[in-house]
Amino acid sequence: MSVLEIRDLQVSVKLPEGELKPILAGVDLTVKAGETHAIMGPNGSGKSTLAYSIAGHPKYQITGGSVLLDGDDVLAMTVDERARAGLFLAMQYPVEVPGVSVANFLRSAKTAIDGEAPKLRTWGKELKESMDRLGMDAAFAQRNVNEGFSGGEKKRHEIVQLELLKPKVAILDETDSGLDIDALRVVSEGVNRVRETGDTGLLLITHYTRILRYVKPDYVHVFVAGRIVEEGGPELAERLEAEGYERFVSAAA
Ligand code: ADP
Ligand code: MG
Ligand code: MG
Repeated sequence: MSVLEIRDLQVSVKLPEGELKPILAGVDLTVKAGETHAIMGPNGSGKSTLAYSIAGHPKYQITGGSVLLDGDDVLAMTVDERARAGLFLAMQYPVEVPGVSVANFLRSAKTAIDGEAPKLRTWGKELKESMDRLGMDAAFAQRNVNEGFSGGEKKRHEIVQLELLKPKVAILDETDSGLDIDALRVVSEGVNRVRETGDTGLLLITHYTRILRYVKPDYVHVFVAGRIVEEGGPELAERLEAEGYERFVSAAA
């Protein structure tokens, strides 16, 4: 059983003038395979910074704490090594990869992560089935990654990646933003399929409670001013929906 352990993580963003602006003020979080955690917090609280730091984005400097995946030091790994170790990050703003088709991108990613190319026939079948379930036309596999994708197509593509790459821990940053109600349902069903395998720990980062109507988290963490200020079960999400973040923001100030 895989486990991601974030301990007292402190992170600053590197500003263009070379200064460091502290964002994460000591984050503690443990995500085990089969668990679904939701991180909820107001805009600017540092949720994406947490995701990017774990993914190894060069703009963010770790100033303290640790991140371990099954005991291995994630922060000492390159971005590629993190993916191979079983970490998956769906970006809030996915990047375009011109000249690389969805089919080739997914196959390369799978090959890099597994250390060997997937068997052609089963791979083609898996890809087609996953795309079918997400309501994506087969022609989509020949398009360039994220080039001209609608918001919904980007998110569906993320879920296809998640289903095929089978990470140990997946961090989904605002996977629900910019989705209409049908796309939200289809994407949520995909997340639930991954969840039900029991093999992946899920960390859902969100500003709104919308996605949590479809994907029931085991744990909810309220994130304010760079740290977790409250933890609970799904009922905490309902309370946030009713009361908003204000009480937590004033308490943290
Ligand atoms: P959230 O995802 O919760 O909305 P972010 O992690 O995106 O929050 O941002 C947290 C804080 O860090 C914000 O005040 C934001 O302006 C600041 N920040 C994040 N990235 C940068 C950056 N590249 N340059 C300057 N400030 C940044
Ligand atoms: Mg934001
Ligand atoms: Mg964000």
